[in-house]
Amino acid sequence: MRTKVKVGDLEIGGGSEPVIMAGPCSVAGETEMLEIAVAAKVAGANILRGGAYKPRTRPESFQGLGEDGLKCLADARQVTGLPIISEVTAEKYIDTMKEYVDILQIGSRNMQNYELLKSIGKYASNVPVMLKRGMTATKEELMGALDYLIHHGHNDQIMICERGVRTSVNQGYSRNVLDLNIVSDLKKSVSYPIIVDPSHAAGRADMITDLSRAAIAAGADGLIIEMHTKPAKALSDAAQHITPNVLETIVRNTQDIYHAIRR
Ligand code: PEP
Ligand code: MN
Repeated sequence: MRTKVKVGDLEIGGGSEPVIMAGPCSVAGETEMLEIAVAAKVAGANILRGGAYKPRTRPESFQGLGEDGLKCLADARQVTGLPIISEVTAEKYIDTMKEYVDILQIGSRNMQNYELLKSIGKYASNVPVMLKRGMTATKEELMGALDYLIHHGHNDQIMICERGVRTSVNQGYSRNVLDLNIVSDLKKSVSYPIIVDPSHAAGRADMITDLSRAAIAAGADGLIIEMHTKPAKALSDAAQHITPNVLETIVRNTQDIYHAIRR
């Protein structure tokens, strides 16, 4: 039997539609966040994403607005009704995040941060989690991370997210390689909903529609996509943000594919 992750009225995993999470890589402020949230809702997204604590490659890069960013997300939820997913990067943020978010995202870089996994299992046992696959993680390592959460008390409301893996053969044209093989495998070998992140896999806005369609065709239960009303203004990962118009097409196309492969 498949595990369904319940977030408010939404049931993720084997529902009648694919679940679409959309929003900016980083929350930049209240007005912008609200504008993006309304656009996401109008385009057909079900969940709002936005990073408040950002794991950045360089220390001088924008690190996120922290709790102020979470407040912007909560205000946007108030207006749109969209539940919120945001990344938790350290144990010290868990309590604060529990006040504001509906789903905790465990980022690629932290998939093997076992102390963080233990703390989330223990202190956020009732909060739905989306565990992102590490960028070089094997399936066994991914399963180990999942088991850490459960072993340490998490209630099993967990989604797994494929977000692209690092290889050398894609250099020069894409950030990572979207591993659709693991989507097909996980659908058969685990009960948890499988989410695909085409944005961090591609690193390029122009690939997101194609990869989204392919992910749903491969069996994904949903997508998490970076979207911005003014993509060039995004404070992180600007090149991979799509516009609300493109998101609307993706929602329509992926619903069609989702239904077609279940007929
Ligand atoms: C993100 O979703 O903004 C992010 C940092 O993703 P990942 O952990 O997959 O790199
Ligand atoms: Mn990003």
